[in-house]
Amino acid sequence: MLIPRYQGRFAPSPSGPLHAGSMLAALGSWLLARQAGGSWRVRIEDIDPPREIAGMAAAQLATLDAFGLHPDGAVVYQSQRHRRYQQALDTLLAQGLAFECHCSRRALAATGGIHRHCVATRKRPDPAIRLRVADGCQVAFDDAVHGRIVQRVDVEAGDFVLRRSDGLWAYQLAVVVDDAAQGITDVVRGADLLDSTPRQMLLQQALGLPAPAYAHLPLLLGEDGRKLSKSAAALPVDRQHPVRVLAMLWACLGQAALPQEALRSLPHFLEATVAGFRLADVPVQAIPLSAALHNTNSARHA
Ligand code: GLU
Repeated sequence: MLIPRYQGRFAPSPSGPLHAGSMLAALGSWLLARQAGGSWRVRIEDIDPPREIAGMAAAQLATLDAFGLHPDGAVVYQSQRHRRYQQALDTLLAQGLAFECHCSRRALAATGGIHRHCVATRKRPDPAIRLRVADGCQVAFDDAVHGRIVQRVDVEAGDFVLRRSDGLWAYQLAVVVDDAAQGITDVVRGADLLDSTPRQMLLQQALGLPAPAYAHLPLLLGEDGRKLSKSAAALPVDRQHPVRVLAMLWACLGQAALPQEALRSLPHFLEATVAGFRLADVPVQAIPLSAALHNTNSARHA
């Protein structure tokens, strides 16, 4: 059987500057793609204008560039791919796998936002479209970091949204369509998306698309113990000191200290990381950023 060439990707939403947590995902996905001799694509997930900040996509690309993480091929923008999402949605509707839903958020509050059947008493002009999830639907997969993951999608996610009532595309649909269209073989991203993966695998099955392999990297936690998030304005990474930032991220990925020689320049550093990266050493647990900074600083002064 022909094994497709490794295609990895990094897919930021332009809702804020790249912070340490997003750079961890960028670095991890880049490392695995380079190590496999494959390609690394960048896709800007700009399908949610209310959450986006003007100029942010360009700033994110400039940051990747400053860190020496150069994408292969042209950067893809989801805002230019509505037609593809519409085609996928039409296919699912025609097959009866997706349906129009008139339920309001308030009506679904009683079931924790989980939709199992429509409770709306009247039609709204702007219905959402959801994927029908069968009772008892269970999805299982092996994550390269977290091991076996099993989710009852009907209970934990319910019939999930593909196109929102405000007309915007749901992340789940766009990501599945684009990963397949770009021939992505390996999805490496933050562990906050671990529980989205079963929904994405269901959609892949419904659309007859192949499932990539998955690796979910540990989240970095801020002072408040919560995940760093672009929209909560976590501090952007320092573009002036890429090696220092990357060395901290390298430690967060559970990797053995690099020889002093590797810290001499960005190209030296990146070359050493591609040679030495071991996915098996990546921790499962989220990492407090303050501890990571402390460890790297004390290592530097040792
Ligand atoms: N766009 C998502 C984010 O910025 C990541 C999507 C993905 O990697 O699947 O959090």
